[in-house]
Amino acid sequence: MAEAGSFAEKVKQQADIVRVVGEYVRLKKTGKDFSGLCPFHQEKTPSFTVSPIKQIFYCFGCGKGGDVYNFVMDMEKCEFPEAVKVVAEKCGIAVPRQKERSPGERKENQQRSVLVEMHREAQTFFVKQLQGTAEGNLARAYLEDRGLDKATIERFGIGYAPSGGDSLLRHLKPKYNDKLLVDSGLVSRDQSAGRLFDRFRRRITFPISSESGKIVAFGARALGDDMPKYLNSPETPIYSKSNVLYHMDRAKEALRRQDFAILVEGYMDAIAVSRAGISNVVASCGTSLAEPQIKLLGRFTRRVFVNYDPDTAGQAATERSLSLLLEHDFEVRVLALPPVGDKKADPDLFIRERGKDEYLKLLKEAPPYVDYLIARARQMDLTTGEGKQRALNFLLPYIQKIPNGIMRSEWATRIAQQLRIDEPLLRSALTKAAKERRSEIKTRPELIGRAAKPVERRLIRMLAEAQGFRQELAKHLQNARLYHGLETEKIFAALVIASLSGQPLQATEVGAVLEERDRRLLFEILFEEANEPTWEEAMSCIEALQHRQAEQELADVQRSIEANPAAPEMRGLLEKKQELMRRLAAAR
Ligand SMILES: [Zn+2]
Repeated sequence: MAEAGSFAEKVKQQADIVRVVGEYVRLKKTGKDFSGLCPFHQEKTPSFTVSPIKQIFYCFGCGKGGDVYNFVMDMEKCEFPEAVKVVAEKCGIAVPRQKERSPGERKENQQRSVLVEMHREAQTFFVKQLQGTAEGNLARAYLEDRGLDKATIERFGIGYAPSGGDSLLRHLKPKYNDKLLVDSGLVSRDQSAGRLFDRFRRRITFPISSESGKIVAFGARALGDDMPKYLNSPETPIYSKSNVLYHMDRAKEALRRQDFAILVEGYMDAIAVSRAGISNVVASCGTSLAEPQIKLLGRFTRRVFVNYDPDTAGQAATERSLSLLLEHDFEVRVLALPPVGDKKADPDLFIRERGKDEYLKLLKEAPPYVDYLIARARQMDLTTGEGKQRALNFLLPYIQKIPNGIMRSEWATRIAQQLRIDEPLLRSALTKAAKERRSEIKTRPELIGRAAKPVERRLIRMLAEAQGFRQELAKHLQNARLYHGLETEKIFAALVIASLSGQPLQATEVGAVLEERDRRLLFEILFEEANEPTWEEAMSCIEALQHRQAEQELADVQRSIEANPAAPEMRGLLEKKQELMRRLAAAR
């Protein structure tokens, strides 16, 4: 673990666990600590807690707990050295070069950073083409026509890939070999002739950045009638389209602040919404959302307004995305924009024609997804039995995905009313579908409910935190063997050893030597509400333990006396009994 003086230790001191965890879990301040929904088990009410003071986290539901590294290791499914690197990068601390990497790993890392570098160069190249060439001027005129001014073009890094077919290739070729060029996805290889050529030609380019803001791909829109209208980078070692949401790098802060996301289809839509001053927008950049994208979004907010294009493809994409969002327990609303004139309106067109305020107003009124779906179902022919069945078949899969039973039932009633379907019939269809569905995966946290006495809890807390006297306290406990026989004995033993050393306590290191249930109990105690400890209180806790110890001894003595009244040591036992009784009486 983080040894004193090591790089890991240094990073840990500088890193703020709340900030790091906050990138994965939405945290709310509760008292001195922060809490949120546990990322390690399914839950509806937060039992996941982070302490900025102790720099540790603990989940009262599933029992996961530890320091910032334990968190990142569990979250990113990585080993300790990788976790140190991740935390250091998040906190802007330069990581010293690792020597012990495997050659394969090193090569992959090198390749990745070369590809990122290549994308950066391509970006500069595309931007220059848009600004300084005749062809670029045409492209700029097109953009201006779409209402994109110079500032917006610059802000979103919009560029232009010329029609020549090898301009970018010629630009990059002196520095990179053919294999790298092809691997980057920026250059394609002609299948028959084996010749290399630019992937993007005569297209407006939009840099696509990873969550951390590195350009990892491009989206490109045809300037003329070339097909396809939109062309993206292929999957590469640095880009997987299901892992990236367009505009995420710029939306992060706003997502957290506003606690909802607007989900649009394409980069033009995201730019239009963002440009209107609404920054919490991301685009799926594909027909519908993928699971990793939902997980990425879920780290920032669980409320989503889906605002896809109103065409049939957009509708289908909306519905597929809804399904997936519901499964992941998101709160979803659907913003379906009305036509502008006789044109179906995507967010881009709508904001250009009707303005930001009108958009915001509709956003506020956007109905919950079930209302949207009911409205869709009502467009079907409901006059016949078959039509109703079709509408019901359309709705059922969505209703099934609502994780909350009460909600599910409420919506069933509502649907029955709105579609004029016999309610018992609808309910039986629901039950039937539920039976066919695979049962939900639920983590049932093993309840701890251990009866550690308040005195023990207090002393444990003091041993962990009372910088002023924990060493002294440990000595008291150790000398009189006061914690022996307690249910918390192992926790005390570990804390006493740690405290006697005089070093500051690392809860995770103590936790690491404990069995699972003891480790959990320790973390629970560390997160309890508690007053500042004092030496007086410590002493009264010690007295309470002494008292308990005397009682125990008395009981033992009494047992020995009764077991063998003729024993030669009877005299000694009786004296001991007298002495213990005196002590107990004095304490009362
Ligand atoms: Zn948990």
